[in-house]
Amino acid sequence: MTSSHPAYGQLRQVTSSASVLLADNPGKMTLDGTNTWILRAQGSDDVVVVDPGPKDSGHLDAVAATGNVVLVLVTHRHKDHTGGLKKFYKKTGAPIRASSEHFVRDSTPLKDGEVIDVAGLKITVLATPGHTADSLSFVLDDAVLTGDTILGRGTTVLDPKDGTLADYLASLDRLEAVGSGKVTLPGHGAEVADTAEIARFYRTHRLERLDQIRAAVEKIGPNAKPMQVVKRVYSDVDKKLWPAARMSVKAQLTYLREN
Ligand SMILES: [Zn+2]
Repeated sequence: MTSSHPAYGQLRQVTSSASVLLADNPGKMTLDGTNTWILRAQGSDDVVVVDPGPKDSGHLDAVAATGNVVLVLVTHRHKDHTGGLKKFYKKTGAPIRASSEHFVRDSTPLKDGEVIDVAGLKITVLATPGHTADSLSFVLDDAVLTGDTILGRGTTVLDPKDGTLADYLASLDRLEAVGSGKVTLPGHGAEVADTAEIARFYRTHRLERLDQIRAAVEKIGPNAKPMQVVKRVYSDVDKKLWPAARMSVKAQLTYLREN
C-alpha cells in the first residue's frame, strides 16, 4: 500500500487517529485535490469526516465506506470542500457541523473553543479566519486539521470576498500557540511535521511579501493597482499564478492601507 501523498483512491493512514482520502479534483487552487480526513479512535467503527469534498459520487462513496459516519465537520465554505455535503448527507444521514449555519444539518454551528467529544475522540474547534471569514481548524492530541489556512505546500490565497490579512496573521499566531509537536493535516497537499513551525514559516513568508508590496507601492504610488504590484513583486513566479497572486496582493494592499 502506498503511504505517501498523493494516493488517489486509497485510504492513507497518517496519524494513529487520522487517515485521508484524496479527491480526484486537482487544479490551480486545489493542488493535487481536496483532502477528506477520516478521524477514528483506535478499534472503533465510528468515524468523523472532515470536509467530504467536491460533488464526486465515487469519492463520496469511498468516504462513506470508511466506517459508520457519526459526524461531518466543515473547515470552510469553499466548494472543493463542501460541494459534496448534500449528497453525503443523503447517503449517510450524519449530522453536519460548520461555522456557518448554512451548511449545518441536525446540529448547531461550531463555536471557537468548543470541545467536541465524539466517538472516543476529543476535537477542539479553533477559529482561524483569514483564508475565508468562516475558516476553522480542528485540534487533536497529536495533530491539527488546518483546512486551507495552512497547506501541505505553497501558500494560502486569501479570498478577496471575506479573507483579510489581519485575521490571517492572528490565526497563524493561534496555530503556532497550539501546534507545537502536532502534525499539520491540511486541506490540500501532504501533512507537515510540526504545526507551530509551519505557522511561523507562513508568517515570515507573509511579512516578507508584505515588505515587498510596501516597497512596490512606494515606487508605483499610493493608488497602485493590484496587478501593477503583482508584476513587480511576483516577476519570478509563473504568470499562470498571477491571478491568484493578485487576490493575495489585494488583501495585502487593504491591510497596508488600514494598518
Ligand atoms: Zn478554500
